[in-house]
Amino acid sequence: MAPKILVVEDNEQNLVLMRDILVYHGYAVLTARNGEEGVRLAREERPDLILMDMQMPVLDGFAAVNILRHDPGLHGLRIIAVTSFAMAGDKEKALQAGCDDYLSKPVDILELMATIKRHLGEGKADGE
Ligand code: MN
Repeated sequence: MAPKILVVEDNEQNLVLMRDILVYHGYAVLTARNGEEGVRLAREERPDLILMDMQMPVLDGFAAVNILRHDPGLHGLRIIAVTSFAMAGDKEKALQAGCDDYLSKPVDILELMATIKRHLGEGKADGE
């Protein structure tokens, strides 16, 4: 079965871009437009990995990750922060908040795919 990835992003253009890339690569993709919706979908759908925008309305990525990391039902969930390169210190903040990794926007497609595969344990046959 294809790994399930939840994309949480309030910018429609970024959301559609990441969703289409992931669908093209064969992943099962869910989307949410804010942190609150993201937390709800994570609990309902149990994705393998979340791409989490950190700047969002309603509930931002930092608050959402904090909630998810305190949910024992979501043990093992991988969370990759996606945030604006302009935001200095966001990488450290995201990792401290409990994210496993960090990607800066605009998202580089090759880096996105390599990061996802690394965290899902795929691609080891390629000598990784
Ligand atoms: Mn945003």
